[in-house]
Amino acid sequence: MLQQAREHLQSYFGFDSFRSGQEQAISQVLEGRNTICVMPTGGGKSICYQIPALVLPGTTVVISPLISLMKDQVDTLLEAGIPAAYINSSLTNNEYRETMEAARNGEYKLLYIAPERLDSSSFIEQLKQLAIPLIAVDEAHCISQWGHDFRPSYRNIHSMAEMLPEKPIVLALTATATPNVREDICRLLLIEEENTVITGFERKNLSFSVVQGQDRNNFLKDFLKKNEKEAGIIYAATRKAVDMLYERLHKSGIEVARYHAGMSDKERNAEQDRFLTDEAAVMVATNAFGMGIDKSNIRYVIHYQLPKNMESYYQEAGRAGRDGLDSECIVLYSSQDVQTQRFLIDQALERERIPQELDKLQLMVDYCHTEKCLQQFIVSYFGEQSPESCGRCGNCTDSRESVDATKEAQMVLSCVIRMGQRFGKALTAQVLTGSKNKKIQEFGFDQLSTYGILKHRSVKDVTNFIEFLISQELIGVEQKQYPTIFVTEKGKNVLVGKETVQRKAAVKTKKIAMDDP
Ligand code: ADP
Repeated sequence: MLQQAREHLQSYFGFDSFRSGQEQAISQVLEGRNTICVMPTGGGKSICYQIPALVLPGTTVVISPLISLMKDQVDTLLEAGIPAAYINSSLTNNEYRETMEAARNGEYKLLYIAPERLDSSSFIEQLKQLAIPLIAVDEAHCISQWGHDFRPSYRNIHSMAEMLPEKPIVLALTATATPNVREDICRLLLIEEENTVITGFERKNLSFSVVQGQDRNNFLKDFLKKNEKEAGIIYAATRKAVDMLYERLHKSGIEVARYHAGMSDKERNAEQDRFLTDEAAVMVATNAFGMGIDKSNIRYVIHYQLPKNMESYYQEAGRAGRDGLDSECIVLYSSQDVQTQRFLIDQALERERIPQELDKLQLMVDYCHTEKCLQQFIVSYFGEQSPESCGRCGNCTDSRESVDATKEAQMVLSCVIRMGQRFGKALTAQVLTGSKNKKIQEFGFDQLSTYGILKHRSVKDVTNFIEFLISQELIGVEQKQYPTIFVTEKGKNVLVGKETVQRKAAVKTKKIAMDDP
């Protein structure tokens, strides 16, 4: 059957080979396994159900929430000589009746339907009269309340499938790779988690980096000077920060636009146009900017402040380099911004969702402290196995030697344990550096053997080192009323000398290629 799938790929679509993930998804479906396929937008998800639809006998039903896309998809299929149709609210009664009749006669290989149709039991009765080997659930994240576009009608998909005379295979497709959304999709559509296909999240023309330990305004000034002709976005966390940055850049003579939810629609549209038409090279914005923006020549995306989680980060950073040319994605990290994000999470969400969002924020902080390949960090966060380092990111090009930091790590870990594993990073760093803070005396932490053991280092430095140990999973964070830290199993191994800790030496310089002049 796979051979047949390859022939169809060539004869109907004119492609010579499958992209990564497509073949795996298609062969799982053809083996009769319910499957979830996670690929970024543009990754080529449609082929994953269109080809099985051609191979399998009967009519594949595609659930799709976007009426406008349905028509495009069907038109493209018809052009390729594949009989297909759609059922949604744009059809007249007559068109609807005719389409359903043709479907009953088995005239279509694919039938696209809007999810709301499944709310009607008479429609499901009609579906029962078709031979349906496969149900493709496009934009499958709509089934999950964790997703960004929950559609209650998606919850009817499973019961509809159960009612069909022949049990169909289910293929869920989405670009949303967050683990909890994926779990929801699998649970609600009875997909075994091992039948997950995730690929294509790496962006080979983007180089990721994190800047910390230097003044971010100076960094920005130098960066913009070097890249003054290029288009770029600078994201800040709050409207106030956007306004402040905008004023500063504007005063220094840079053609800059701004965008945030506090501006009127008219102002926002005008500013967006200035950026899209290249009148303003730089856009300073909150995360309100960017959805649906199609500007291909964005050469850099800088996060002036820490984004709230990896999903938002990758979505925002991913707006760089749509044209495939090399582009940069930079986070300017400062530990105070973690507080800003915590505050925003606390303000914006219902109580029960807060701990989960704080965990996600912690992973974003880990991203800023890891010494692993940043692209790899991102794609493995999304569940993809990426065996190779990207060779382009700030960590891959970091030429500093690694030094052994086991002893220092042991000092920190042992201090965390001695403090009872119920305090935060800041207080731990103060104990280690021998601060005279009153709280320390009250708790008697100035009596600990680890008190002041790192007094030659600054609190900030030690806090950063703790962040690094968190990113290495030697220390864990528990989201209580305020975050407390504890030593993980892996951390205990370091403590007893079973594992060592390597860290890059302090000064960061870019690797210079051998053939550089
Ligand atoms: P998605 O639904 O994941 O956003 P599409 O299915 O619309 O992506 O595919 C995106 C583009 O990639 C389309 O133009 C499609 O023709 C093209 N494409 C898909 N699969 C292949 C392939 N195997 N070889 C070449 N191009 C492909």
